Amino acid sequence: MPLVLASPGPAGSRPASNRPAGGRGRPPRHLADLPLAERRAVVAGLGQPPFRASQLSRHFFGRYTDRPEEMSDLPLAARDPLTQALLPRLLTPERELACDGGTTRKTLWRTFDGALVESVLMRYPDRVTMCVSSQAGCGMACPFCATGQAGLTRNLSTAEIVAQVVAGARLLARGEVPGGAGRVSNIVFMGMGEPLANYASVLAAVRRLTEPVPEGMGISQRSVTVSTVGLVPAITRLAAEGLSVTLAVSLHAPDDELRDTLVPVNRRWKVAEVLDAAWGYAATTGRRVSIEYALIRDINDHAWRADQLGSLLAGRLAHVNLIPLNPTPGSKWTASRPAAQREFVRRLEAHGVPVTVRDTRGREIDGACGQLAASAVARP
Ligand code: SAH
Repeated sequence: MPLVLASPGPAGSRPASNRPAGGRGRPPRHLADLPLAERRAVVAGLGQPPFRASQLSRHFFGRYTDRPEEMSDLPLAARDPLTQALLPRLLTPERELACDGGTTRKTLWRTFDGALVESVLMRYPDRVTMCVSSQAGCGMACPFCATGQAGLTRNLSTAEIVAQVVAGARLLARGEVPGGAGRVSNIVFMGMGEPLANYASVLAAVRRLTEPVPEGMGISQRSVTVSTVGLVPAITRLAAEGLSVTLAVSLHAPDDELRDTLVPVNRRWKVAEVLDAAWGYAATTGRRVSIEYALIRDINDHAWRADQLGSLLAGRLAHVNLIPLNPTPGSKWTASRPAAQREFVRRLEAHGVPVTVRDTRGREIDGACGQLAASAVARP
């Protein structure tokens, strides 16, 4: 498989206590988990000159490799100990699917302890977006989302998140995605999981992805979007981090009665509180907040709800991203009728609210919104 991230090491070499079945382990330490100063300390602890930490980091973040045989600037004898200490194998591709002529690629990954997570690469004429997972599963239980049905297995580590992006970057750099050699330009935390429920790892991942090589991968903060169900204290905390990443809030309903059912965490933080936190984020960062709204036929796509949403958002630093519902297997819900969708857009625009309708890339490979379910592996 082209996406193997690390030289396959003997899985049995790790202590059994560190590898429980079913994805409940603590992933091995990886350089992407650590700031550069700590990588240097690890390298020094191995009796190597600390600058080797930068060399290793350049291989991983700049050349997207973790193979000792590709590290010709490192002494032969140092390559294996250094890669074993700082570049352990974290993700193994379990299954890969492509559509849109190869420009949309979904990868199902197996973690070291058997959990399954997915990432999706989407190449457009002007950009390449990687949709990454922040957790194996999700504990937020939104009834229309495939991941929400499965529950939470565990948080991903910083390096497990970063490794998804590095894998995509490597494919692009090697010209394995149609369109010629390229780079990852955008990252959206819209794969499996609730990023703000795994705050520390996600924040460190954002830093790692956006710091320049060799600290990190050098992607622009403005091109990173963190999407949340609306964990209010975490939104407030994120606003204070001094980052310029985009916040996306998965609203899906303008009223508490409906949102309590579509996004169950709304029972804890109501629409008004979530939006207040979002406006606080916009005020602090100057970044326009993206309001995500999956249009579900006859559930949340009524004209009056469009008007209510329009009134809530009018005059705010926000835009609405409408997502035609991607029905999960067995779901009684489906996408809105085209006329209802058009009317929803029209009413929002009448309130002066900018609206886009998300494209539905990746549907054939269950790579579209809400479809990232590990059950994909069980299908024939
Ligand atoms: N937990 C985060 C990020 C992951 S989901 C969040 O909720 O924002 C990314 C986006 O896809 C969210 O807006 C989510 O509500 C939406 N989504 C989930 N399932 C969907 C489905 N079946 N159809 C359309 N959008 C869906």
